[in-house]
Amino acid sequence: MKCPNCGGNINETDFVFECENVKYDKEKKENVGSCDFTIFRKVAGKKLSSKTFQKLLNGEIIFVEGLKKKNGEEFDAKIKLDVEEHKIVFVFDEEDDTEEF
Ligand SMILES: [Zn+2]
Repeated sequence: MKCPNCGGNINETDFVFECENVKYDKEKKENVGSCDFTIFRKVAGKKLSSKTFQKLLNGEIIFVEGLKKKNGEEFDAKIKLDVEEHKIVFVFDEEDDTEEF
């Protein structure tokens, strides 16, 4: 997987997908690397697989089931990667009424 910001490799941990050029300085408590691309794996309580993340990196919109609201209620939603904001966002597209899956 390649970083959309700088083209570096994306490392994956249990918690994040992160560019290899992100260097977190524990003393300064800030990123001193040349890139700041870090995405948390968990979206509304659900951990994204690397396969899903790869698709998001390709600009695809992904339909995910079994997400959880703060009150524990489950819901399904479409998500995509907002490359500029470095975060995963929900997609609400009222014009698109095609059923996925
Ligand atoms: Zn990067």
